[in-house]
Amino acid sequence: MHTQTRGDSLRSIYTYPWDLFDTGVSNFVDEALALNLNGVTLATSYHAGKFLRPQARQGAVVFPEDGVVYFEPDAGGYEEVRPLAHSNPVLRKGLDAVLADGRLSVHGWTVLLHNSRLGAMFPQYTCQNAFDESYVYSLCPMQPAVMAYAVNLCRDLGAQYPLASLVLETPGWLPFAHGYHHEFAQVKSNVWLDGLLGTCFCPACLHAFRLGGLDAGAIKTWTAARIRQYFAACDETGADQAAAWISADLLQDEAWRAVQQIRQQRVTELVQAIRQAVPARTQLTVIPTVQRPTAMCWQEGSDLAALAQVADRLEIPFYEPSAARVVADAMHCLTRVAPEKVRAILRPGTPDLGDGRELGEALQGLAQQGVTEFAFYNYGLLGTRRLQALGQQLAHFHGVRS
Ligand SMILES: [Zn+2]
Repeated sequence: MHTQTRGDSLRSIYTYPWDLFDTGVSNFVDEALALNLNGVTLATSYHAGKFLRPQARQGAVVFPEDGVVYFEPDAGGYEEVRPLAHSNPVLRKGLDAVLADGRLSVHGWTVLLHNSRLGAMFPQYTCQNAFDESYVYSLCPMQPAVMAYAVNLCRDLGAQYPLASLVLETPGWLPFAHGYHHEFAQVKSNVWLDGLLGTCFCPACLHAFRLGGLDAGAIKTWTAARIRQYFAACDETGADQAAAWISADLLQDEAWRAVQQIRQQRVTELVQAIRQAVPARTQLTVIPTVQRPTAMCWQEGSDLAALAQVADRLEIPFYEPSAARVVADAMHCLTRVAPEKVRAILRPGTPDLGDGRELGEALQGLAQQGVTEFAFYNYGLLGTRRLQALGQQLAHFHGVRS
């Protein structure tokens, strides 16, 4: 059983299994409690990367295996697309270890559709742009086999582990700009162009657009033509221009708006199916975006209000460089979602709220808007000084004696 009690609102720390075991489970929990944290949000399914680990006991840099899960998946619980387990059995025991320790509430951080390993194995299920080019890093949620994979993965985790919550990341389409190493471009990107390049026209999406009464072929042609026009005329544009073009296109073009709504409905449907597959003892939270600001999340198929209806909470990464921007982003989210449906993720270090005072102001600003649950990113990536500043701000914030 975890120790979080009513009135003791959640303060969880995002953590990778390799950092958990490097510190040692018991040491890690001691340290988290000393920092006034009361939960751990442990990766259960994660992608590749290159991580600098300032406080690691062993080594300093890790390149984790791509697209694997950090638990023992139930072999009988999947259909065509099934998860790949990490090759090191020790790293598959993190959830068991923190649950057995029992002093922190345990949250399963589960990356769903950003998975290049599965994308390479199942290219027919990846996103395809308006030129029929596949994005290996992004499985398309419109594909029934992909939806089955996501639901089965969450059912498996929910059945095996008494998690306080299951935290879903990338339940929809990845933005164009996120996710591949060695990206090259000598045309300056912008949110308008990324939106066009990131819209999927795979057979399942074209089929969904047709079911929605749209001329799917014409929308695909329109999208490709816009991209070509941009390349022919521009090398770069201002962020203000790109943002205005997005609103103008959505207002002017009913079919383009309908495409976005069909995509949002699909992601909502996927999250709803996951809620039904996971035991009621486990809350379901959704990270609606990997972009800034949160209001751009519709490009990934996230509809904040609809997701808050089908999930228990939204877990919103307020990754901003100042407390004022955190508060402003939250204000806009809270025009769509009640504050008790929001768990805030803050990054108490470079490139965000590095200064402890800014972190304290962000916590206060969110609390003043009614947000009571917090998570912090990320144990292994933060230096010791930043972790200590986090602990001090939490002590101050909650009146906990440190
Ligand atoms: Zn698609």
